[in-house]
Parts: sequence; structure tokens; C-alpha cells
Amino acid sequence: MNFTTITNFIDKIGKIANLSEKELKILKTARREHTAELKVNENKYLAYRVQFNDARGPTKGGIRYHPEVDLDEVKALAFWMSLKTAVADVPYGGAKGGITVNPKELTIQELEELSRKWIRAFHEHIGPTKDIPAPDVYTTPQIMAWMMDEYEKIKGEKSPGVITGKPLELGGSLVRDIATALGGVYVLKEAVAKLGLTEKTVAIQGFGNAGMNAAKILSEEGYKIVAVSDSKGAIYNYEGLNLNEVIKVKQETKSVVNYSNAEKISNGDLLKLNVCVLVPSALANAITVENANDIKAKIILELANGPTTPEADEILHKNKVLVLPDILANSGGVTVSYFEWVQNNYGYYWDAQTVKDRLKEKLVKAFNSIWEKYSSNNYDFRINTYLLAIDRILKAEKLRGNLK
Ligand code: GLU
Repeated sequence: MNFTTITNFIDKIGKIANLSEKELKILKTARREHTAELKVNENKYLAYRVQFNDARGPTKGGIRYHPEVDLDEVKALAFWMSLKTAVADVPYGGAKGGITVNPKELTIQELEELSRKWIRAFHEHIGPTKDIPAPDVYTTPQIMAWMMDEYEKIKGEKSPGVITGKPLELGGSLVRDIATALGGVYVLKEAVAKLGLTEKTVAIQGFGNAGMNAAKILSEEGYKIVAVSDSKGAIYNYEGLNLNEVIKVKQETKSVVNYSNAEKISNGDLLKLNVCVLVPSALANAITVENANDIKAKIILELANGPTTPEADEILHKNKVLVLPDILANSGGVTVSYFEWVQNNYGYYWDAQTVKDRLKEKLVKAFNSIWEKYSSNNYDFRINTYLLAIDRILKAEKLRGNLK
């Protein structure tokens, strides 16, 4: 998914919502794009922070460590964060950061040094009332801890609200670790109830934080997880997978494919399985024109960012597959990040049930606002989600006097 795909999509929304040239321009323009080169043991890594839209509050979004990350992708992800915070109705704008690196190839010392250097490069641009980073693909609570520590050393004061997704011991929030998946499940349950579906089979592509926790939570909720996958391949058993076993195999051997009580299939085959719910929770562009017509699921819950291309979206809508888009489906992560920041600023910490109840309240409200629009027009669920987010952002821009 590149940034041009996004600007094209905004143009499409612009026609539907009758947006002016000024409004389109404000929506498509990143406020600030920061880049740096970080050096660790003679190796150089490109690093980024893009602050996309800040009309609704300080910018917010994760930092991704991945060998294929580049400025264009970070910009696309920062744009989505701006919409995501608007959909979840948390008082933030959107940002994203990254480093072009394969963290699996670094020693723990190198990983720490690289993470601290990211802060040294960008510390002037971030802060609890400016821009608040968080974890994303291949970044962890430990990395957030190093980053917070580096920031506090530079500022000479404690500042837990500078970053979210921290370990509990350093001001993290209960439930943040499973928040993306849990938020997705709350949204899914609303959609299942609206559609009156009773079948409970699920296939999950990707077994990282979001995918694995979604599998756990959904199976506790009585869903049957028939397939899961990681970058090495997929496993499938129509009777249902024994999740505790699969997690053990993943932890011990680094891949789910070594689980024995299932058929080995490809990541591509997993998407085409005859299941009720499909959960793409790996990287972007999993569902394209090539495979969209083969999808049999009734609901797609996008826990990954950008797993469906716009062309595939049109096919799925025609085939009556309900796509719960990323900016709603995975907004539980940033919502609990917001709760973490509130707790840091307040210096008073909530119990797990309070966090869960407040997360549920926010996401059920967001889902229902979109469902109401969706039921009254012929556009797909993603378009309706964008319409809600864009309306909220433009209202804030207008109140600031930026649309005169
Ligand atoms: N990286 C996550 C996302 O894409 C979380 C961002 C945050 O908590 O700020 O939504």
C-alpha cells in the first residue's frame, strides 16, 4: 500500500462527500516529515517520524521496525492513524514512525542502542503534548521502556506520557498488551449480532500480538479457530485448533507450521477457506483483485493495517462480504494507548475491568455510528468509516480557522 493509493481513495471520498479543493488538500498533506540516519556498529539505518494531521490533538502512532519500511509507507500509516484516532474519538491526531531494519538480525545491545538513537534523533519533535509514539510491527514494551528512559534523560525529568505501550512497571496500562485484539473482538461481536450470524468458524492470518491474542480471545468467546498462519505458512483443521498447543509450538519453534495436528496450507489458501470470519492480522495487501472473488467469509476483521486493496474492497462489497476496516477494527490499540496516557497524566491507575469497559464503550459507539450511516446508503463499510473520520477531522480544522 503506498501513499498514492491513499490520495486516490481520498479523491473518491471527496466526490461522495462533496469536499472542496481546500478540504481535500488539508486531508492529503502531512504536516511534518522527519527523517534521520542512525548508526549502530558501523551499520546505518534510515529512521522516520511523520506527523500527519494534528487538528484534533497531539499526534499519535506507533514505530515500526521492518526491513521494508520506507518514508512512503510511514506516511500512509501516519495518515491512517489520523483517521483511526478520529474514528475511536480519542483526542489525538495521527503520526507514525519507523526504522528500515530487520530487528531479528540485531543483538539485544544493538536493538537498545538503535532505539535510544531514534529518540536522540527525534526528541525535539515528540512529547506528551506534541506527539506520542507507541509500539507497532516488531517493536515491544521493552523498546518503549528504553525510549522513554532516553527521552527522560535528555529532558532531565520524568515523562511517562511521552510514549505508550510501556511495561506495567514503568507506567503502562493494564490490557494494553491485548487491546488491539480485544477491541477487534468487541467490534466483531457487534457486527455478528447485526447480521444475525450463528456460525462461529474463524481463520486468522498472522500470529503476532494482534493475531495470537485475537485467536485466544475468540476461542474463549466460543469461536472455533480452524486456521492460523505466520510468515512460514498456515495450519488448518476444520475440527478446530488446540490454541494452547499452537502457542506453545510457536514459542518453542518460532513457527505455527510445526504444530502436528493440522493440515499445512499456504497463507494464500488460508484466505480462501470456508469460514464465517476471516482475520487478516499480518502486513498490508493480503487481499487483492487476485483472490477477493475466492473469499468465502461473511466478515473480514482487519486487524492488520491496510490488508485489503481498494480494488479488492469493491469486489468484496459486491459479493456482500462485510469488511470491518483497519481504522475501526484495530483501533483498540490506540484507544488503550490513550487510556495509558490519561493514567500517566493523572498519575492514577485503573484496574483491568475499568480499561476493558471503557474500551468497549468507545468501540461499540464507533461501530454503531458507522452502522447507522452504512444502513442508510449503498457505500461499503470502509467508505462509511472514512466519511465519519473525515467529517470529524474537517470539523476540527474548520474550528481552528484552517479552512477559510
Ligand atoms: N501501532 C498501533 C496502531 O497502528 C498503535 C498505535 C498507538 O497506540 O499509538 O494503531
